[in-house]
Amino acid sequence: MPTDITVNGRTYRWMDRPLVVVCVDGCEYDYITAAVAVGAMPSFTNPNNLSIVTGVPPSVHGICGNYFFDPERGEEVMMNDPRHLRAGTILAAFSQAGAKVAVITAKDKLRKLLGHQMTGICFSSEKADQVSLAENGIENVLGRVGLPVPSVYSAELSEFVFVAGVKLMESERPDLMYLSTTDYIQHKAAPGTPVANDFYAMIDRNLVRLDALGAVIVVTADHGMNAKHGEDGQPNVIYLQDTLDAWLGASKARVILPITDPYVVHHGALGSFALVYLLEEAAAQHAAAERIAALPGIDMVLTRAEAAAKFELPSDRIGDLVVVSRLDTVIGTSRDRHDLSGLDVPLRSHGGLSEQKVPLLVNRSVSKQPEARRWRNFDAFDLGLNLVTRPS
Ligand SMILES: [Zn+2]
Repeated sequence: MPTDITVNGRTYRWMDRPLVVVCVDGCEYDYITAAVAVGAMPSFTNPNNLSIVTGVPPSVHGICGNYFFDPERGEEVMMNDPRHLRAGTILAAFSQAGAKVAVITAKDKLRKLLGHQMTGICFSSEKADQVSLAENGIENVLGRVGLPVPSVYSAELSEFVFVAGVKLMESERPDLMYLSTTDYIQHKAAPGTPVANDFYAMIDRNLVRLDALGAVIVVTADHGMNAKHGEDGQPNVIYLQDTLDAWLGASKARVILPITDPYVVHHGALGSFALVYLLEEAAAQHAAAERIAALPGIDMVLTRAEAAAKFELPSDRIGDLVVVSRLDTVIGTSRDRHDLSGLDVPLRSHGGLSEQKVPLLVNRSVSKQPEARRWRNFDAFDLGLNLVTRPS
């Protein structure tokens, strides 16, 4: 039996299978990052998950936030209901054509959107104890996965998604599977910290299992994540509703934060993207836009038409103004409407252009790669189904 080998004071284990190490001559780091993909704006969870499973931007599928002002009903509501969806999903189309499709999401808030008009398996780890054959296409998820229902604020909520995905690949072997985790860890822990490293090691372990089961795997993200606080650890917040009330008077402007969801511990509903509805005339709107743009920490202020064109958003579901803040700054409504008690570590969040860059990785070689393509995260299914090399 070959033994360990020591070379120049370092000991190396004998290989159990072939190891290949490649040195790419002159590979400046930017050659790798130039292959990065760009997510949809706003860089929030629902718009991007729906872009990935539909293959199109929010201007087509209609989901432009977790939360929005519904002009038809005149109320602010979560954008979780399939009635808000304006396009079919790739998952639904394949399932209707006879493919075996499975969707597992960490939070239940995404389940109905992702599973819209899809037959097959669709459940969340958050409500893994409440599945039924009729509603979710599967029974006894806890028994099959062998894990308890995780806390909604835990790394385990995402780990459950992966472990369940591996179990399903072993037992049901779906033709198409979409796994979507939650960003609780990324909100709490910066890259390179032990907590973040443990989380990515968990992902890695499970991707190895899926790879060993012979799956083509595409990995992407809905959005990135950045620190949004000063050196004192306090969040850099522009309370835009308070600011506009002071400038224009009360009830002249309504600020909507599409990041808003029931899970405040992550981010206190603070992100780098806001919508503003104004009761002002066009000239006053223009003046307000210029004033907001001049606030320190603001990246850009766009009109409805400009934002719809630039960010590929549905113009009937965004404000008169779209406000994006810079990397280290977030936008709030009124100070008293944000519960920051759950922020036990300095704020990390997303929503802006600074969180639009995400990875797009595949465990196969890619043929027919279009030149100079501006990759999007919602090219994931195109990449996995159309562009990877298939054995002839
Ligand atoms: Zn997210």
